[in-house]
Amino acid sequence: MALIMEGKPAAAAIRARLTEKAGKLRDQGVVCGLAVVLVGDDHASIIYAEWLGKLCSNLGIRYHLAALSAETTQNELLALINQLNANPEVSGILPMMPLPAQINPDVIARSLDPEKDVDAMHPLNVGLVAAGKSPWAPCTPRAVMTVLEHYGIELAGKHAVIVGRSNVVGKPLAQLLLGRDTTVTVCHSKTPDLAAFLRQADLVVAAVGKPQMIQASMIRPGAVVVDVGINELDGRIVGDVDYAAVEPLAAAITPVPGGIGTVSTVMVLEAVLRKWPD
Ligand code: NDP
Repeated sequence: MALIMEGKPAAAAIRARLTEKAGKLRDQGVVCGLAVVLVGDDHASIIYAEWLGKLCSNLGIRYHLAALSAETTQNELLALINQLNANPEVSGILPMMPLPAQINPDVIARSLDPEKDVDAMHPLNVGLVAAGKSPWAPCTPRAVMTVLEHYGIELAGKHAVIVGRSNVVGKPLAQLLLGRDTTVTVCHSKTPDLAAFLRQADLVVAAVGKPQMIQASMIRPGAVVVDVGINELDGRIVGDVDYAAVEPLAAAITPVPGGIGTVSTVMVLEAVLRKWPD
């Protein structure tokens, strides 16, 4: 029987800390706020933006939603980001991905004030995280580290195998794990014999976007399994790991839903308040 690493208790502990911090800032007359920039009508982004809005209102943090049409030009979006960069009531900016094809996400990332860049998209923040000089990685890898810490998972000297090398999950997570003295292997779509790598892992992190592709036969009994994937399968949400088959042999596992995703949202708000010390 695996330890089920639910996201809720980890998220609740951070929410409590952030609620207190936001309250203290309000008492001091400090205004902090999150600006979410939504271009087009990507369903997942709209739902995520709604969650963030609710969370902000629960925590007493201002929420600015800029919902723009799918025809918005790159220059129009840049003008909006410049306004948000200059707005003292906005302490964090999150442009939702994906952006429509006429907008280059790299140009948008470079236009963000690095201090307000809550998902570490700006090259300065990417570089600082890669160099191990900043803990402010994108929200999802930070959520993975938070869950592992909450459940007391030992990392030093362990071998982690991450499946997925995206800039928003796999790569920055590899940097954060290296910073905790974990030996890290990063696999991707061109990795031959993925199972051979996974079977060596003390810690498996799946960040692929393929429903239930990580099977029980790929997991060493006693491994810790973190499932970042969020996929729709037959009308329900499932992860990248075949949970029912893997759970009985893992030492610990995150569920989907209710695992990493639950904590990622809170990580956004943690980043919004980051310039004020705890
Ligand atoms: P991307 O599509 O950007 O990256 C997917 C990665 O998986 C790529 O590196 C790709 O390899 C690799 N991959 C694809 N197929 C295989 C395969 N058959 N074997 C091994 N590796 C493979 O996805 P994201 O990183 O943005 O997201 C990954 C998952 O995490 C998705 O399900 C997404 O919904 C979820 N997610 C969850 C969040 C949360 O808060 N819980 C937040 C962000 C994402 P290659 O580079 O070679 O193409």
